[in-house]
Amino acid sequence: MKIAVCPGSFDPVTYGHLDIITRGAAVFDKVIVAVLHNRNKQPMFSIDERVHLLKQVTSHIENIEVDSFNGLLIDYVKEKNAQTIIRGLRAVSDFEYEMQAASINKKLGPEIETFFMMTSNHYSYLSSSIVKEVAKYQADVSDLVPVEIADALKEKFKVES
Ligand code: ADP
Repeated sequence: MKIAVCPGSFDPVTYGHLDIITRGAAVFDKVIVAVLHNRNKQPMFSIDERVHLLKQVTSHIENIEVDSFNGLLIDYVKEKNAQTIIRGLRAVSDFEYEMQAASINKKLGPEIETFFMMTSNHYSYLSSSIVKEVAKYQADVSDLVPVEIADALKEKFKVES
C-alpha cells in the first residue's frame, strides 16, 4: 500500500492545501494529513482545532486520514509505514526551504521520497497567513477557504476583538 504523509501547519487549511491534498489522494492509496506541533510558530488555531477543521473539509475523501505529530517528520513518516512525503510548491520563494528540508530528510531516511506538486495557478498567491490577514478585517474569504474555515475564522476574530 502506497502511503504518503502531507505535513504542514494548516493554520488554517486553505483551498491551496486542499488542492494538494486532493491531488495527492488521487495518486496514493492513503494520504495522512499531519499537523505539525511547531513551537517556533505562534498559531491562531490549536492543534485540536486544526485537526478538527481538516477532518471536516476532507471528510468526503475516503483515503485521507488526519493526524498530528511532534518531533521529526522523518520519524513520524517511518512510524506510519509511509514511503513518501508530499509538499506543495507555490513560488520560487518556497523552493529554497523545501530543497533544504528534502535533502535533510533524504539523509535521515534515504528510503523515503519527497514528492513536490506545483500549486494550481489560481492558488499560487494563497497562504494561511494571507487568509488570516484578510479575515481579520472582516473581508470576504469565501474564494480562499471552505465555508467551515471561514466560519471558524469569524468566530476567532469575534473572540479576539
Ligand atoms: P508549513 O509551515 O509546513 O509550510 P503550511 O501549512 O504553510 O505548512 O503548508 C503545508 C504544505 O502545503 C506545504 O507543502 C505548502 O507548500 C503547501 N501549500 C500551502 N499553500 C499552498 C498553495 N496555495 N498551493 C499549493 N501548496 C500549498
